[in-house]
Amino acid sequence: MEDKIYDMIVIGGGPAGYTAALYAARSGLSTLVLEKLTAGGQMTNTEQIDNYPGFPEGIGGFELGERMQKAALRFGAENQFAEVKSAELAGQVKRIRTRKKEFQARTVVLATGAYPRKTGVEGEDRLVGRGVAYCAACDGMFYKDKTVAVYGGGNSAVEDALLLSRICKKVYLIHRRDALRATKVYQDALFQSGVEMVWNSRITSFLSDKRLTGVELEDTKTGEKRELLLDGLFVAIGRIPDTKLFAGQVDMDEAGYLIADETTRTSLPGVFAAGDARTKQLRQVITAASDGAMAAWSAEGYLAEQHS
Ligand code: NAP
Repeated sequence: MEDKIYDMIVIGGGPAGYTAALYAARSGLSTLVLEKLTAGGQMTNTEQIDNYPGFPEGIGGFELGERMQKAALRFGAENQFAEVKSAELAGQVKRIRTRKKEFQARTVVLATGAYPRKTGVEGEDRLVGRGVAYCAACDGMFYKDKTVAVYGGGNSAVEDALLLSRICKKVYLIHRRDALRATKVYQDALFQSGVEMVWNSRITSFLSDKRLTGVELEDTKTGEKRELLLDGLFVAIGRIPDTKLFAGQVDMDEAGYLIADETTRTSLPGVFAAGDARTKQLRQVITAASDGAMAAWSAEGYLAEQHS
């Protein structure tokens, strides 16, 4: 165990985590960010981010992640690449364990984000990387001039279908209802893009040899089944908050999002939730960054109370 007690440990190195670290370090708090793989979190899967202000030409998600990391490190925040295995969040000194080390802090910011929901259809795990994918921006180019489908009806699904329509020979959008959840601006673009809609359909099995060759679809109204031949399937049916580690310690909603309002304070004193893992209306890079700033500000207030 390290003897040092940080003022703040941030779990998760996405826009929420690194903004919290930037604000905390700039306020003179000793700050450590623990991140699994690369800076940026889920946004590293986005080829081009056009709705984060200050970048009129847009910016790649990977680059934005690196820039956010650099900004925090410039003010003295530390970072380590380590997966958190467990956390003891109650009490004044919180203990965070990774595989090799244990760290201590007076405040913790939970900024672990959310990951893609799976279809749950048999064979999915085996076919990941063999025709089944979750990120069109990352894997779309592997399907250049091929036939693919996107599964889902939200903004992510439509965004993916639009991106793929510029790369692939043929794109289907498979949705379980007859109306999209995606916002109108996306829908307008979609209906002009040549993407073929497959309404009222759910995937009931994957067709495959070594790779995915297609999907079996069931009509949600009639129960009728049919096959659709594909080279690739992009699953975009929502996300699941990465919060299991904190279950039983911090209050969560039924979907597993950490319950916190704009102040980012959770049910535990000294523990703050920022970014996609928090209950909120709009999950975007900018709202994650905003949460990070609020979390640092709230943590500073909490630490001041402890010392008074
Ligand atoms: P989402 O909005 O929750 O949409 C998930 C879609 O998948 C829904 O259409 C849902 O169908 C369908 N679905 C869910 N579970 C399913 C299952 N088991 N089988 C089949 N279909 C299933 O998720 P999202 O598109 O990932 O977006 C997440 C958040 O990020 C949203 O707040 C979204 O607005 C935001 N986002 C914003 C942008 C942007 O503004 N640039 C881009 C991407 C995402 P139903 O409609 O029938 O429920």
